[in-house]
Order: sequence, then structure tokens, then C-alpha cells
Amino acid sequence: MSSILVHIKVSPEDLNNIELHKKLIQEKSNHDFKSIVLRKRSIDARQRKIFYQLQYEIFIKKYNEKVYNPNFNDVSKCFHCVHIIGAGPAGLFAALRCIQIGIKPIVFERGKNVRERRRDLAAINKNGIVNKESNYCFGEGGAGTYSDGKLYTRSKKKGNIPEILNLLVHHGAEKDILIDSHPHIGTNKLPNLISNIRKTILKYGGEINFGSKLTDLKFENSKLTSITINNNQSFKIDHLILATGHSARDVFKLLYSKNVKIDFKDFAVGVRIEHPQSEIDKLMYNKVNRGEYLPPASYSLVYNNGERSVYSFCMCPGGIIAPCATEEEEIVTNGWSPSKRNNPYANSGIVVEVKWSDLKDFHQFGPLAGVEFQKSIEKKAWEIASNGQVLPVQLLDKFLQKKSKSIFPPSSYFPGFIEADLSKVFPSFIYNTLKEGFLNFDKKLKGFISPNALLHAPETRTSSPVRIPRNKNFHHPDFFSLYPCGEGAGYAGGIMSAAIDGIRCVDAISNVIKN
Ligand SMILES: Cc1cc2nc3c(=O)[nH]c(=O)nc-3n(C[C@H](O)[C@H](O)[C@H](O)COP(=O)(O)OP(=O)(O)OC[C@H]3O[C@@H](n4cnc5c(N)ncnc54)[C@H](O)[C@@H]3O)c2cc1C
Repeated sequence: MSSILVHIKVSPEDLNNIELHKKLIQEKSNHDFKSIVLRKRSIDARQRKIFYQLQYEIFIKKYNEKVYNPNFNDVSKCFHCVHIIGAGPAGLFAALRCIQIGIKPIVFERGKNVRERRRDLAAINKNGIVNKESNYCFGEGGAGTYSDGKLYTRSKKKGNIPEILNLLVHHGAEKDILIDSHPHIGTNKLPNLISNIRKTILKYGGEINFGSKLTDLKFENSKLTSITINNNQSFKIDHLILATGHSARDVFKLLYSKNVKIDFKDFAVGVRIEHPQSEIDKLMYNKVNRGEYLPPASYSLVYNNGERSVYSFCMCPGGIIAPCATEEEEIVTNGWSPSKRNNPYANSGIVVEVKWSDLKDFHQFGPLAGVEFQKSIEKKAWEIASNGQVLPVQLLDKFLQKKSKSIFPPSSYFPGFIEADLSKVFPSFIYNTLKEGFLNFDKKLKGFISPNALLHAPETRTSSPVRIPRNKNFHHPDFFSLYPCGEGAGYAGGIMSAAIDGIRCVDAISNVIKN
């Protein structure tokens, strides 16, 4: 036995008190040790007194942690190459995997690099101008770049999470993400990290082309043979990873028009709620003031009324609500936060499941029924103000038809808002389920229905409303060179799961190449 795992718990004030940790480890393990390494860290707020739970690995002999080696290869002269559409987490991690296993990645991304993309985000926030190719969803790093950068995923069995976290640290993320139970990076740190990933891909001989939109696909028999970029450049294809995200509605339409099988997929729609962060801290930590040792609190809530679920989605403590439209005359929200999560607001999507049977009025659109439904809500929300990215908001009290004495609270949403009746934005099954959800959440977290809670509408793009099918070898059942990948294809629901899926697609292609 050269090492053992020991759990200790300490108060937030003692999180960095290593001498105390050593003493507690000694008491708990009854072992002499030469080295200790912190492996896991989580907050335990189940009781009135809040603790950090720490898992240490203790070593009987002196131990030096191995330096992570990503094992990149020069692929510039490689015979085999993989074309990748989309430079979001799925596409970028697919490209990194390619250079780890000796395949040349050639990436096409419709948007701009992270630096140039920033200007378009300023334009949407300040002037409500939507650049259709460069926005919160499109551009280098995809929807993950200007996000909270939460790295938590439920799809742990499917992929090598430590490898992905190590790759993120290798490219500039804080080492804390290797040990935190709910790691996050923050919008301020992500762009630099993403551009470091780009530098690695280029350094080892991969290609990344910005301003390069997939506009056509050509098939012969059961093979995708070539792609067209920007309507004017054609490329022959051996293997194509299609990782274009949940907002590439033109790609779904292109596939449908080419008779490539795509399916409707359940998704969720609702609002983004914002509370003062101090209220959420009080609800979660039983403290009026969380003090300097605890991070801004987050929550995760779910309620099922027997027919469908309503749940919190992408909660951003200390965050900001962002305008995430990809076209003019539509409104979509999501949230982000900086690494310190130090804004005075806490926002979260509160969304209701949408199934095929809910969308009878949209069945005429076939597998694109969900896309058209999302669009109809985004359009209705836009029409309320008909003014750039100004969005409709409603006090939670009023949404629940309670008498409200509230003073209208401030909002973190920068482009501006207008007070509205949100029952006009949503069909009744969403509106009613949201109401039930809020009443239930307030039972679980007394005070969640606060006079200061403001609903921003709508939150429509929680996941893809389409699934592009694939078989056990990860390619489309009808076309063996087409690999649907990531969130847009219906195989991921966040940064980590998208990265995992990108890696899995490359591994599947590598099996084909080897055989
Ligand atoms: C504001 C915001 C905050 C978020 N916060 C979090 C979070 O904290 N944690 C988390 O896990 N998830 C978060 N998400 C969700 C997360 O970003 C996505 O789940 C993830 O990025 C999906 O990865 P992907 O690579 O599959 O697709 P995307 O990230 O959507 O990337 C797809 C890429 O394809 C490109 N593309 C689209 N069409 C074409 C085309 N025709 N030709 C060429 N390129 C094309 C797009 O420009 C885009 O760059 C957030 C999303 C947003 C918008």
C-alpha cells in the first residue's frame, strides 16, 4: 500500500489551513505520511453549519505528481485527415484528439476568432444588432466561449473526464477544475483558453478556417463525398464530423432538404429567472451574508407534475443574462458569469419539457417541428418590444397572479427590457407548468418566490430540438462518412459532454482508418 484516500471536513475559514488538514488526516488515518495531494473538494451545505468536504490522497513515501503530457503529434504531413464543421467544444476537442492520434484535422467555422467575435457581442449588447455569423452561439469556441464555463456533466461513463480537464488546464484553466465537484472557468478566462487550443491545433499541423460556413453537401450512393463552403469552395471528404451546435438551423434545413434522415427530439423551453445573489446565498447557506470564505451559492431544482418536468437549467451564480439570438427579430436568453462570479445577480433558466405530442400545430414541419416552435416563441417575445434585443420581463409575483407590492428590481440584461404579460409569449402548457414549478420550488426553497425575482423571456435553446441519427459506429445510418456530433446532433448537453462526443467521434473514425 503506497497511498490511501482520506476524507476530512473543514469549515470554510479553514479551507486553506494545510497544517490543520494534516492534523485531521493524521487523526483520521493513523498513518505517517510524507506527501498529501488534494483530490476532491465540495461544499456541504446540507446542515446549518457549512463545511468543505475534502478528499486527500496520502502517500507513505515522498510523492511527486506526474506532469500531464497531452501526447500531441505533428500531423502536417499525415495522409489521413478528418474534416470538422464547427469549432465549438465538440469540434475543438475532436481536433485535439486528431493530433493526439496522428490524424490531420481541418476545421471550418462560420464565425470569427474569439478576439474579433468580442466586437459583435458588444454590438448585440449595446445596440441590439445581431450578426448572423458571429454572436453568443457562433464563432471560435462555439456557444461555450462566452458562457459560465461550468464543466459539470452527467455523462461521466462515456468519456475520459480527467483527460478533458487536464487538456483544459494545459491550455490555461486553473488547476482547481481538477478537484472541484462543480468546476467552472468563467467568461473572462475562456477566450484565452480557446485561442490557446487553436494555437496547439495549428502548431501541430491542423487547419482552422474562420468565416467558413458549410453551405452544401454532396452524396453518392451511401457516401458523403464533398462539402461546399461559403457557396463557392468544394472539398472532397473521407470523414466529416458535423458539430454545428443547436442553433445552426440552416444546417438542419440543409440536411432535411437533401433527404438526410433527421429526427425530432424532446427539448425544453421557459424563462430565465434572476434574483439578487444575496437572496440565493441566504436560501442555500442559511446566511444573510455568506462572508468571504464561501462562493456565491447556486441551486438545482426539479419538479415533475406526473405529465412533464420543469427544472432549473444552467444556473449562473454572480452572473449576467445574455442576448443569444442568431437572427434579427428574435429574442433568446442564456446566462454567463465571470470566474469570480462577483456580479450581484443570480440567474437560471427555468424550463419545461416539450414533447412531439405537444406540438400538433407544428407537425407539418416534420422533424423541424421543434425548430419552428422555438422560432415562434422567440418571434413573439421580439414582437412585444420590436426594438433590437429589448426583451419582455415580468415580476415572478405577477406571473403567479399574486398581488405585487414589489418595486421593480434591476436586471443584469444589458440591451434593455420592457414589462409584459409573459402568458402572451408561451402556450398554456408551458405557462401553467412553469407556475406549478415555481410554487413547488418555493416549498423546497422557502423564499424562492421573492418580490425581487424577475422573469426574462424566453429561454428556448436549452438543447437541440433535432437528433441527427447515428449508428453504433457513430456515423449516420445512411452515410458512412458523415459523423453527427455534439449538442446540435443531439448527443451532448453542455461543454463537457460536447467535448466527450467530439473525442468519441474521432476514435470511431480512427477505428475505420486502422481497419
Ligand atoms: C451563454 C451560454 C452559456 C452557457 N453556459 C454553459 C455552461 O456554463 N456550461 C456548459 O456545460 N454549457 C454551457 N452552455 C452550453 C454549451 O456552450 C454548449 O452545450 C456547447 O457549446 C455545445 O458544444 P458543441 O460543440 O456541440 O456546439 P456549439 O458550441 O454550439 O458549437 C457549434 C459551432 O459550429 C459553428 N457552426 C454552425 N453552423 C455552421 C456551419 N454551417 N458552418 C460552419 N460552422 C458552423 C458555430 O458557429 C459554432 O461555433 C452555454 C451556452 C450559452 C449560449
